[in-house]
Amino acid sequence: MQPWPRLLATFVAVVLPVAVQAADGFDIVSLGALGGIQDGNLSAHLIRPHDDDRAVTCDAGTLVNGLRVAEERGSLGDVRLTPGSAESRVGHVLTQRIKGYLITHAHLDHVAGLVVASPDDSKKPIYGLASVNAALVDNYFNWQAWPNFTDRGKDPQLKKYTMVDLAPGVATPLRDTKMRVTAFPLSHGGVESTAFLIESDNDAVLCFGDTGPDAVEKGARLGDVWLAVAERVKQRRLKAILIEVSYTSDRPDAQLFGHLTPKWLMASLHDLDRAAGGGALAGLPVIVTHIKYSLTREQPQKKIQDELSAANDLGVRFILPSQGSRWHFR
Ligand SMILES: [Zn+2]
Ligand SMILES: [Zn+2]
Repeated sequence: MQPWPRLLATFVAVVLPVAVQAADGFDIVSLGALGGIQDGNLSAHLIRPHDDDRAVTCDAGTLVNGLRVAEERGSLGDVRLTPGSAESRVGHVLTQRIKGYLITHAHLDHVAGLVVASPDDSKKPIYGLASVNAALVDNYFNWQAWPNFTDRGKDPQLKKYTMVDLAPGVATPLRDTKMRVTAFPLSHGGVESTAFLIESDNDAVLCFGDTGPDAVEKGARLGDVWLAVAERVKQRRLKAILIEVSYTSDRPDAQLFGHLTPKWLMASLHDLDRAAGGGALAGLPVIVTHIKYSLTREQPQKKIQDELSAANDLGVRFILPSQGSRWHFR
């Protein structure tokens, strides 16, 4: 064979299939954007590979209401229903598309949607660190707060949810999806919380539960997460970070209760930038979750946005989500 036809044949045989199989990032829908106190809009994000409709949620503070708002905003528009079925798009996504829940910690604002939707939900796993799963079963699925829909704890166990304990730092396949997850423990004012690294092919997103800054929590857990993902950030394989900011920067450290402010988030992102060799965060989408709804006439979003913009010397792309927003990060 002449060199050019041979090159072409090699391209078709080797390069094309790789290109076709190449990952195309993640789709994320915000089902609950805030960290309290507004019931109906609490921490929950629907995450799936762009090229596969099987999803999980990172936290589940709000589920059905988040799906309703997402549908009203057209963010579930491409979901095709089973022909002849009476199910709604909200019902279809809840029971058919969501293949499991990743729970960062058992605080009510991260699990309320899951608990109240459970009677009409489908069978699926709940993934969490052992301490988080134990708190879920002991505090909610105990036949007093709520029937026990899990496969652990008080009899009778209804076994709708299979509780899967994640070992810290170990990649675990997410059943019935093409994703895998690695859990990293976080310190949240005396409670163990979690950051989940969710991967599909070569792509990854990182979803944080509530966390305090290392300096205030007197530990290194946030720093350890950055060290674990630094190489992926360097290689631009990490497509987005979802992380909390609960208060504006004027909040005293003694009153953070295991949460971040814009000042502390920027300081921590600098740690990640250093670990990734510098200049690695330019353009990286960072979704700022868990801002608290305020009972004053002014919501804190504008001030938090201004504080982040003013301090953003890393070129990070900060996104303050609203419920029902959808993004494709690639
Ligand atoms: Zn919270
Ligand atoms: Zn919390």
